[in-house]
Formats: sequence, structure tokens, C-alpha cells
Amino acid sequence: MRKIRLLGDPVLRRRSKEVEALDESVESIVEELFQIMYSEDGVGLAAPQIGVSLRIFAIDDGKPMAFVNPKILWRSEDTNIGEEGCLSIPDVFEDVERSNSVVVEYLDFKGNVAKKQFSGYTARVIQHEYDHLDGVLFIDRIAPNRRIAIREKLISIIREANRK
Ligand SMILES: [Zn+2]
Repeated sequence: MRKIRLLGDPVLRRRSKEVEALDESVESIVEELFQIMYSEDGVGLAAPQIGVSLRIFAIDDGKPMAFVNPKILWRSEDTNIGEEGCLSIPDVFEDVERSNSVVVEYLDFKGNVAKKQFSGYTARVIQHEYDHLDGVLFIDRIAPNRRIAIREKLISIIREANRK
């Protein structure tokens, strides 16, 4: 099974590529995302976090959902602030401002094109995971004073990542 990539791993900063065909390899990546997400008690996991630079992520908001080639078509102007963490940045939890609602177009795990609106916590998780596909991490979106406050912690995670 693939390992979770930690902050400092260049794959987390890359822009992931579109999936060209929903074949068995994509299916097995989706399966692995769910396996690792559940074993780590995460609510979402993006393919780059397991070292796969493809536009795929998985979430669980009460039921498992996979997103392949997602596009956020609309973000509400209304926002809220909530705490986020990330399996690639262990033990760091910080407030992030996100849109209350988003409309996402994506392929589901059966290969159907879906277009749905998500709100609240699910919208937050989707925005977080979607960022991963563009090489953006939640620590990029926190207040500058908070980034300074957690600097040492981040440096120790990067050291840990480079040791592996
Ligand atoms: Zn994350």
C-alpha cells in the first residue's frame, strides 16, 4: 500500500494531471484512497497525497464519494471560517476561510458525469481536497500570524518527510 506523502514532498506542490481514461488503474487508485483515508481516520484524501499526480480525490461525508477530474464551477461569495487539518501535515489544525457552497462537476466512480452543489462541511472538505490537485495546501490559506506561529512545527514535518 502506498504511504501518505508529507509536507516537503514535491508531489504535493505539483499541479496534477487530468485522468484520461477511467480504467482499472484509476479504479485501484480510488480504492486505495478510501482504504488509506479510513485507516488514517481522514475525511478526505487526494491522489497527490499518496504520490499519484492525478486529478482524483475521495471524501466521506457520511457516505464515500470519489471525484475524478473535478471542476469547481461556482463558489458562493458567502464564506465561513472553520478548523482544518491534513493527513500530509500531521498535528496541525488551523482556521481557514472557505466558501459556504460550491458547485462541482466531476466523474463519479462509475464514470458518470455529475454536477452537484455542496454546502457546509462537505463544501469545505471538497475545497480542501480540490486545492491539493493544484498543489495548494491549507497552510497557504491561513492568517500570516498563524503561519509564523506554526513555522517550527512545519519545519519539523519537512525534516521528517525528507528522512523517509
Ligand atoms: Zn489535505
